[in-house]
Amino acid sequence: IKSSPRRRPLMFKLLRRETRDHEQLSKDLRRAATNGELRLVYQAIVDARSEETVAVEALCRWRHPTRGDIGPNVFIPLAEETGTIAALGEFVLRQACLDARSWPNVILSVNVSPKQFESPHFADKIRRTLLETGLPPTRLELELTENLLIADFDHAAEKMRALQDVGVRLALDDFGAGYSSLNYLLSLPFDKLKIDRLFVSKIDTGAASAAIIHAIVSIGRALGMHVTAEGVETAEQQQFLKVAGVHSFQGFRFCVPVAAVEISERLAAEDQARADALRQRARA
Ligand code: C2E
Ligand code: MG
Ligand code: MG
Ligand code: MG
Repeated sequence: IKSSPRRRPLMFKLLRRETRDHEQLSKDLRRAATNGELRLVYQAIVDARSEETVAVEALCRWRHPTRGDIGPNVFIPLAEETGTIAALGEFVLRQACLDARSWPNVILSVNVSPKQFESPHFADKIRRTLLETGLPPTRLELELTENLLIADFDHAAEKMRALQDVGVRLALDDFGAGYSSLNYLLSLPFDKLKIDRLFVSKIDTGAASAAIIHAIVSIGRALGMHVTAEGVETAEQQQFLKVAGVHSFQGFRFCVPVAAVEISERLAAEDQARADALRQRARA
């Protein structure tokens, strides 16, 4: 559409307002990271067979004092752009490690953005936070996306090896959503693949998505990786994914993101159910 000269000033005004908004929000976010406006919620990831919790993913939330809740799909890119991601990432990692200390049998998954991953001495920072919080390295899993691998493959591979030396696990998040070549991605030392929610959401309607999921599972399994499906919402999706050989499920069907205390309660209830089952079997 050709914009008429008469409308140009209005567009100009709108653009300027948007830029101002953006700048204000960036400032607010910088304050939020140190001001108690950020908090973590956690989503359980369950074993495909037993449906017991095997991992818990930390997800960051921002309640803006006047604008209300702002989603991570908005504030994470903003934090990356403005440099706040370092403080935000540190808050997330430290708080998640502290919360997870009392969840002894599950893996804690923490999202790491490309800028964080690229920062100097990233592996040392992780090691230090683990020492300071007392969470064993083997209980922490970092979720990386393929975006961070595009820039410099050799560098990424080296950083990943340093993280492996710390003892943490590495997961490839949103697998299938980007454009990197398979060969490229799978030559990196990932312990886990997380199938992007997009494919799961199309299981019921598209043969292509079903085929892609089968392919991802067989590649993952052949390379000895754990495969998780994201965004599992329906019984049909669960059934399909189970038959396809996915190891674990994440999705609203099993758990919505909740506060740390609710995860503790969930884990306690699972422990209780296991103990009850054992006792019953002993009696029989
Ligand atoms: P992600 O790492 O792929 O996290 C999974 C997202 O899918 C979460 O959205 C979760 O609430 C949502 N989800 C889980 N199950 C279902 C389902 O069954 N259906 C649907 N429709 N959605 C489901 P959320 O919390 O809005 O986070 C969005 C993204 O923001 C995350 O995607 C992650 O990339 C980023 N993010 C969130 N917290 C952090 C953080 O602390 N650090 C960094 N670097 N990124 C974060
Ligand atoms: Mg994730
Ligand atoms: Mg994901
Ligand atoms: Mg995702």
